[in-house]
Amino acid sequence: MAAGVPRAGRIGGVLTAATATLPSPAGIAAGDRAECERAGADLAHAGASDVVAWATARFGHDLVVTASFQDCVLIDVVWRVRPDIQVVFLDTQYHFSQTLAYVERVRRRYDLDLRVLRPLARPDEAWRTDPDGCCRTRKVEPLRRALAGRRAWMTGLRRAQSPSRADTPVVAWDAARQLVKVNPLAGWGDGDVQRYVQRHRLPVHPLRARGYPSIGCWPCTRAVDEGNDPRAGRWPDRSKTECGMHA
Ligand code: SF4
Repeated sequence: MAAGVPRAGRIGGVLTAATATLPSPAGIAAGDRAECERAGADLAHAGASDVVAWATARFGHDLVVTASFQDCVLIDVVWRVRPDIQVVFLDTQYHFSQTLAYVERVRRRYDLDLRVLRPLARPDEAWRTDPDGCCRTRKVEPLRRALAGRRAWMTGLRRAQSPSRADTPVVAWDAARQLVKVNPLAGWGDGDVQRYVQRHRLPVHPLRARGYPSIGCWPCTRAVDEGNDPRAGRWPDRSKTECGMHA
């Protein structure tokens, strides 16, 4: 832990520590993996807002915030630090109509600089026979375009979301894309998210109340019974658990 870095910012709290106490952006070499890993260690226990403050100061417009719009917690946390930052939404063309309505509601609430990327292919129902290929076409490739020319990306990944995300770091080197990946909410539990939503009266995705704790494309998402694995409704009839964006 580097001296001067906030030890354990309150999860869900707004920025309370002076940005000046965070690792100096100038002290981190661009694209350097070792430096990135040091920053990850320094910020491993920092509050989400502090992580966002570091990333936005460090990377500026070279940082892309990606949002799945299952909720708007990450957007709210980022917006309180840097309201003009661009947010990317990947429109797979298979989203629930409720998701698209929610995207627009959130966009208006925050007056977001929202960039929507769509696949290069038309809807082809490849999800029926080749869901991995479908995800590559509709998520991974558009994400590649979203990240082109950038140096860092930010996601709302949380360790509590699934076993496959249990080791999600706050800051790490994304070797596959040669970018820094920042996950400010990595340490948040489901209760932390709920408390943040209530405290800040955030709009809630309408499918939450209908048994969808995890919301992706409609062909590959089902409601789950209360108490079940929240991601059990994703690709429910297959062994697939991730779309490939976070591999
Ligand atoms: S989640 Fe389903 S519909 Fe969406 S991109 Fe992946 S396979 Fe295609």
